[in-house]
Amino acid sequence: MKKPLVIGNWKMNLDYVEAIHLMQQIGVLLRNKPVEHTDLVVTPPFVDLRSVTSVVESDRIPVSVAAQHASQHESGAYTGETSVAMLQRLNVRWVLVGHSERRSYFQMTDDVVASTLRAVVRSGVQAVLCFGEELASREAGEHFDVVASQLQAALAGLDEQVRPLVTLAYEPVWAIGTGRTASVEQVAEMMDFIRATAASLSLDEPHVLYGGSVNADNAGAIMSEGRVDGFLVGGASLKAESFVAIAHASDDCYDGKR
Ligand code: PEP
Repeated sequence: MKKPLVIGNWKMNLDYVEAIHLMQQIGVLLRNKPVEHTDLVVTPPFVDLRSVTSVVESDRIPVSVAAQHASQHESGAYTGETSVAMLQRLNVRWVLVGHSERRSYFQMTDDVVASTLRAVVRSGVQAVLCFGEELASREAGEHFDVVASQLQAALAGLDEQVRPLVTLAYEPVWAIGTGRTASVEQVAEMMDFIRATAASLSLDEPHVLYGGSVNADNAGAIMSEGRVDGFLVGGASLKAESFVAIAHASDDCYDGKR
């Protein structure tokens, strides 16, 4: 089993004061009961990044910081956008690319996902490529085709030297923020499919995460029976207790306690 990775996506929640508070709470819980086998990442809104990286550094919290999105462009007349280089200057080490909310609400097409992914990894920053089918595709039995096409569009032709910087996050849209988690069987068969598709695109054994209504109660079973390498967590990452409990559930799986 690879060293698991648990990423919290705070979405458009928490102003910078609230974000500092949550980060400090996570730091306290991790000091009281360290997470030993799982890498942790939090993904605050852009305006909170500087405050959160400062708390992480000053309190020496064993958590990396990610951005929720980045521009596909390097610099220039792109009002409202944030470049990967700007994020790097803030000690941001990871960027989510192509989250389903970016795809559906902000018209992020497969082409833009592909160029954003390249902008991120070209700078040496870790990318979490998010993908997954909508409910209608799942019900029509087209989920494998959708996932294959999203992976192909984002990964085909990616330079060999940057491929190790890519982590994959399967997030069925119907499971995000709905409380309707994919079953462990659905996750397990999709994990096999994603790993085979990634190999056919020359992506060598990437971490493959699951996201969609993960919480402290279901994380252990999804990791062990669903055979995932970690989680992308939305709602349950907004409370220090539930985020750290998911990290401990992941630790227990790695440690063979589940
Ligand atoms: C997400 O935002 O990527 C996510 C999976 O959200 P939730 O855990 O709330 O379903």
